[in-house]
Amino acid sequence: MTEAVTNWAGNITYTAKELHRPRSLDALRALVAESGRVRVLGSGHSFNTIADAGTEGALVSLADLPPVIDVDTAARTVRVGGGVRYAELAEAVHRHGLALHNMASLPHISVAGSVATGTHGSGDGNGPLAAAVREVELVTADGGTLVIGRGDARFGGAVTSLGALGVVTALTLDLEPAYEVSQRVYGPIPLDGLDHAAVAASAYSVSMFTDWRQSGFVQTWVKQRTDLPEPRFPWSEPVAEKRHPVPGMSPLNATEQFGVPGPWHERLPHFRPGFTPSSGAELQSEYLLAREHALDAIRALDAIRGTVAPVLQICEVRTIAADTQWLSPAYGRDSVALHFTWVEDTEAVLPVVGRLEEALDPFDPRPHWGKVFTVPSDVVRGRYPRMADFTALARELDPEGTFRNAFVRDALGL
Ligand SMILES: Cc1cc2nc3c(=O)[nH]c(=O)nc-3n(C[C@H](O)[C@H](O)[C@H](O)COP(=O)(O)OP(=O)(O)OC[C@H]3O[C@@H](n4cnc5c(N)ncnc54)[C@H](O)[C@@H]3O)c2cc1C
Repeated sequence: MTEAVTNWAGNITYTAKELHRPRSLDALRALVAESGRVRVLGSGHSFNTIADAGTEGALVSLADLPPVIDVDTAARTVRVGGGVRYAELAEAVHRHGLALHNMASLPHISVAGSVATGTHGSGDGNGPLAAAVREVELVTADGGTLVIGRGDARFGGAVTSLGALGVVTALTLDLEPAYEVSQRVYGPIPLDGLDHAAVAASAYSVSMFTDWRQSGFVQTWVKQRTDLPEPRFPWSEPVAEKRHPVPGMSPLNATEQFGVPGPWHERLPHFRPGFTPSSGAELQSEYLLAREHALDAIRALDAIRGTVAPVLQICEVRTIAADTQWLSPAYGRDSVALHFTWVEDTEAVLPVVGRLEEALDPFDPRPHWGKVFTVPSDVVRGRYPRMADFTALARELDPEGTFRNAFVRDALGL
């Protein structure tokens, strides 16, 4: 490429010769039909080579396609183009008095790229972002188009697909009436006596944070819908000053706190659009496991905190409701997600990731597809009961492997 194109974190430089930016659906279809290998680059917020097309492949951005956001207020749905980000989508939906069920920690990410990797927010009852998708529109390897909706036998593979089935040109999502959320940040909660299930269940969305420089958690972000009862949070006191999840970062970048009610899309993410999310200089890893193991897994992390803390900026613990997408890390199990924002130093971080994966191994963790992990792909595959159904679907829709890069071939064993 004339100019190096990297992911948001800067740890991956995409190796394709060119970044294509088609301006129409027809141009995109022609490009796919004439290319042997194709990968779409969403907003580039993944931390591994999942989006890389390889030196012989075509890397495609949909950012120049018309930014479709069609809200159907009667049906309470929105049809959103394949290049649109959550920040724009949320504002448009909110203007119509409607809402999504949840958001990730940041609104900067593309919708298609997020649901492709199983991206999630927090909340015992909240499925990953893909749970809102009711229909997927694809450009397939021959340049044709295909629509797969709920009720289609292929739908379980169609949304969280790692981009392996085709180019997602639009998604239709379920909406609900707009709601308000108030967010409060609470102070330290020791590990001794922690009732994780009760803390996680105390509000619509709960995130616990620790830097593992001590046992237990340093702060907990509690986001409650104002149409639900005021949460009881007897485990800690609200903090007096505005917080950022990462120690030392400016709280200006974080969404409003102190229980001030506001629109769902201005409270559910931790980070505000237009501001740098997280620390901005980092790597990330995350593992989802069955929620019943939450406390044992947190204790297992505590046992290795001396190894983890030196390369850690912050660890976040969230919960996610079971998902029906076959490749969703939350597939078939109500989950707890253990997230790690590392320092920006791959060499120093990778051995710690390996040690962490050993500690979590007894709990059958499924790594986030968009983050750094070293678990061997055959082990990861064994943790997905519907993996064979997904690979059969990938073979059926993409027999020549046009949409399979090295990451996907390894992940799927194809
Ligand atoms: C600061 C930060 C905070 C984060 N917070 C969270 C969080 O709260 N929760 C969470 O779960 N994750 C989180 N993530 C991870 C992030 O949500 C995922 O990596 C997500 O996939 C990023 O979306 P993207 O559009 O940037 O995708 P990319 O990294 O660009 O692509 C991801 C995958 O989607 C495919 N893809 C993208 N668009 C299309 C399309 N139109 N058609 C077909 N395939 C497509 C790509 O080929 C690739 O395989 C965070 C990441 C960062 C950097």
